[in-house]
Amino acid sequence: MDAKSIVCKLQSSGLLRSQAFIGGKWTDAYDGKTVKVFNPATGDLITEVPCMGTKETNDAISSAYDAFRAWSKLTAAERSRILRKWYDLLMAHKEDLAQLITLEQGKPLKDSTGEVAYGASYIEYYAEEGKRAYGDIIPAPLPDRRLFILKQPVGVVGAITPWNFPLAMITRKVGPALACGCTIVVKPSEFTPLAALAAAELSVRAGIPPGVLNVIMGDAPAIGEALLASTQVRQITFTGSTAVGKKLMAGSAPTVKKVSLELGGNAPCIVFDDADVDVAVKGALAAKFRNTGQTCVCANRIFVQEGIYEKFADAFTKGVQKLKIGEGFGEGVVLGPLINDAALHKVETFVEDAISKGAKVLLGGKRHSLGRTFYEPSVIANVTGEMSLAREEIFGPVAALLPFKTEEEVIQRANDTNAGLAAYVFTENMQRSWRVTEALEYGIVGVNEGLVNTEVAPFGGVKQSGLGREGSKYGMEEYMEMKYVCLGNLSA
Ligand code: ADP
Repeated sequence: MDAKSIVCKLQSSGLLRSQAFIGGKWTDAYDGKTVKVFNPATGDLITEVPCMGTKETNDAISSAYDAFRAWSKLTAAERSRILRKWYDLLMAHKEDLAQLITLEQGKPLKDSTGEVAYGASYIEYYAEEGKRAYGDIIPAPLPDRRLFILKQPVGVVGAITPWNFPLAMITRKVGPALACGCTIVVKPSEFTPLAALAAAELSVRAGIPPGVLNVIMGDAPAIGEALLASTQVRQITFTGSTAVGKKLMAGSAPTVKKVSLELGGNAPCIVFDDADVDVAVKGALAAKFRNTGQTCVCANRIFVQEGIYEKFADAFTKGVQKLKIGEGFGEGVVLGPLINDAALHKVETFVEDAISKGAKVLLGGKRHSLGRTFYEPSVIANVTGEMSLAREEIFGPVAALLPFKTEEEVIQRANDTNAGLAAYVFTENMQRSWRVTEALEYGIVGVNEGLVNTEVAPFGGVKQSGLGREGSKYGMEEYMEMKYVCLGNLSA
């Protein structure tokens, strides 16, 4: 099926929505303005969505605030049953949702299908975990007292998400928030709002009450400011660039909101002489090229120890050569286009900078003949710490190889960044794997493994990569406050 017939099919299934979702109603921008949503692989217009701002955001916040009263009073089991139904519907529409993600984001259909399962898993997990939002009883320091901790939902949450995982970045936030009784206003990226809107449509079919989940989009700074200014919004959760994350953190200060941030990474992938080369190549390929290099946990700096450098570079380059690039609906395609011209330009500039400073192109190093925003899967060797490729997030299909000599040196270089999200280590030496893992200043470490994402583990970074964790039992803590209750005067 071609992209155009897929759009028609999705329109008739009701999953391709072109309006925002406020208080249970499909809504246009109040002034009628729209934003165009394009297929990055073809440049074709998919649809237009409302370009909203302050007024619509304030209405979405009010709806969420009003809905909070009833939603937070449901039992955990009641919320769980509704969320479970939502999960079942997301999975029942896996194919439609995957097609929508490929249309708006460009990733290969197989990856989009994986994202739907991964995204939905957060709803399933938190449908279960909501029932385990346990409090605590503390042994009292005086005989006539009893001390308790109650866990309660924070209230209205404002969630801002990026374009690289149009569904999963949303469910990671909405799942735990709704499970513990919060209500939420979600602002997906304007590049990829369609999966979020389809998920909202399925939330209606699942019985999530009006106002509990709101989805708005348009003027990002105006929406952000309205969320920040509101005293009714008690929590801001954001996934995106470090620069915007810092703005949101600063903007949360006047109303002292809770803040959860998943920001940029600069992941080191360290391959020691004692690594199993096949395992390291497979792991590094997965860690580098997932989503065409457009994830915050992508291996940004592949450090390879001198003794294995040539062998690894050769096997890795052969592996990259086999990666088929193209439109996401194409047969056997594993890499898609970059999201837009700005992303393409950034990758190009980084590679030019590296070449001008002495790096060597082993593969690719230029735009792809497919045109548009396609960039050749590339391997750049002899990268140094002075090059943009090593200093900043590449967010594209370009692997940077950096030789190193000793364990001590590579730990120092790996930590020499303000980012601290994911790191990868390849070694067959158990003692070394522990030493290096403990020394790395990162929130996530993959040892002999390049794919670390799962809903059951805490995802998040240290240093300027963020605050808080998503997924696992720890992920729900972000959306709850603890209330200490002291019961006194118990003596008869
Ligand atoms: P990326 O580089 O991954 O696009 P951004 O941080 O620019 O990262 O975008 C992530 C999300 O933040 C998107 O939904 C975007 O619209 C939103 N965003 C961008 N600027 C602002 C802002 N000033 N206030 C609130 N949200 C913003």
